[in-house]
Amino acid sequence: MSKIHILNCAELQPYFPPIKGAGTYCLLVETNHGLVLVDTAMGLKDFSEPTPLMNWFLHSLRIKRDPETTAIRQIEKLGFTPKEVNHIVLTHMHLDHAGGLADFPWAKVHVHRREHYAAIHRQGRLAFGYLHTHWQHNPDWVLHDSTGDKWFGFDAFQIIEGIIPEIWMIPLPGHTQGHCGVAIQREGRWLLQAGDCSYPIRSGDRPKYLASLLSTPIVGKNIPHIYNLIQENSEQIEMVTSHFI
Ligand SMILES: [Zn+2]
Repeated sequence: MSKIHILNCAELQPYFPPIKGAGTYCLLVETNHGLVLVDTAMGLKDFSEPTPLMNWFLHSLRIKRDPETTAIRQIEKLGFTPKEVNHIVLTHMHLDHAGGLADFPWAKVHVHRREHYAAIHRQGRLAFGYLHTHWQHNPDWVLHDSTGDKWFGFDAFQIIEGIIPEIWMIPLPGHTQGHCGVAIQREGRWLLQAGDCSYPIRSGDRPKYLASLLSTPIVGKNIPHIYNLIQENSEQIEMVTSHFI
């Protein structure tokens, strides 16, 4: 029986804007290919030996430097061994998503080819959020391109053919050049991790045009499409984001 665990790997309490209730969410999925971790948040070394950029990030978001909150420690607490994490899927490679890669150096790391290129070459409006030390250990990358497959009308590709539950990556560029949402089958429905490309949207919500407009420089232009997706398929899709559930 496959299961999805939602791990909050860091509470965010920024001074400005004074956002309440934000976290840093990773998903741990039990599959027939071992454990799949969707995003890694910050890793052990980010807390013990932060680079100046990470130090600034942790400080400005008032993140507790508690190793117990890292994905690897939470996975152990759930009773798994970290070596069971065979695959990592990254929505994108910003420092609060890829920081834990070095804690799982044996894992295959699935990412959109465009995102990998943008991170390595520091391209894009928010390129300052990439931290090269996070992939200094030379991860076992699996770089994905679009295949022509669709998921609810969106371009999409599966991370592994035949994986149960199905796990699809959905390119939703804007926040970064190769940002992807990740959709995981759950009890006949879907859990969509929209990463950093949307604020939370629930079925029945009214469209927030102003919020959508104001957040476009950060999240990109996908919100209207995601909004329609959730409204039209509310029975089948539940959405979370990397920082709000
Ligand atoms: Zn980001």
